[in-house]
Amino acid sequence: MNALPSQIAELRRDASRRLADAGHHSPALEADLLLGAASGLERTQLIAWPERALSAAQQQRFEQLIRRRLAGEPIAYLLGEREFWSLTLQVSPATLIPRPETETLVEQALKALPASAPLRVLDLGTGSGAIAAALAHERPDWTLIGIERNAEALGVAALNAKQLQLSNLGLLCSNWSNALGNACVDAILSNPPYVPADDPHLNQGDLRFEPLTALVSGGDGLDAIRAIIADAPRCLRPGGLLAIEHGWDQAPSLRALMQAQGFEAIETLRDLSGQERVTRARHSSAQSD
Ligand code: GLN
Repeated sequence: MNALPSQIAELRRDASRRLADAGHHSPALEADLLLGAASGLERTQLIAWPERALSAAQQQRFEQLIRRRLAGEPIAYLLGEREFWSLTLQVSPATLIPRPETETLVEQALKALPASAPLRVLDLGTGSGAIAAALAHERPDWTLIGIERNAEALGVAALNAKQLQLSNLGLLCSNWSNALGNACVDAILSNPPYVPADDPHLNQGDLRFEPLTALVSGGDGLDAIRAIIADAPRCLRPGGLLAIEHGWDQAPSLRALMQAQGFEAIETLRDLSGQERVTRARHSSAQSD
């Protein structure tokens, strides 16, 4: 006996209602994304074929996905992918789910750096490789180096580089910039963990399922940022760019840290929702030692 609905229209309606009852904001879209993943059908096909019945295996896969979603698992992990900068990126629970606000970091790098120079640009803590992949895609003349300490996340980044055919994206397993030589890059970009350890958001929504090491960095959220800024002058060529994503209230701390390291032209940029999101600076051209 099979108590589950089998026709596409019923499956969509039933799942959408269950997700809505659980307070999800886009229940119909979520239902369709998961039904697409379970059946291999496009959303347009789901809409066009309401009376088509799915196989028992497809129905079971769908039911499993709906239950996991109702238990809070992020859509991106259930689908195994997320769009970032118009690229479809593989993601896994070993990586942070790329956020729209991180596109601010990509955008400022595209504007600040010469498009057709053979630059070496570093993405520290690359995770799924989102920032490095977007820039490698936009700037074929640049060489992107994605650095990641977590080997599993680095595997996801490697998969993305391969699938997106980004031959100018290299990956390296290292704790921040430890593996790098002196004055070897033109720019350092990073979306490091920056959430304070006691932030209540960590117990809400998608964040509950994301790797804590990619989110949290000490009591004030600034441990990783301090380490990156402290080592950046060593790795950057004179005049090189350092740009770091951070929390809405952390910009003054980043500016002070950059100033203490002798950085120049320090400024903070806002994301599309108006929050201070990226602070950047240029490595001074005069060496202090
Ligand atoms: N912006 C993310 C959030 O608050 C955090 C990402 C990060 O720590 N790099 O959900």
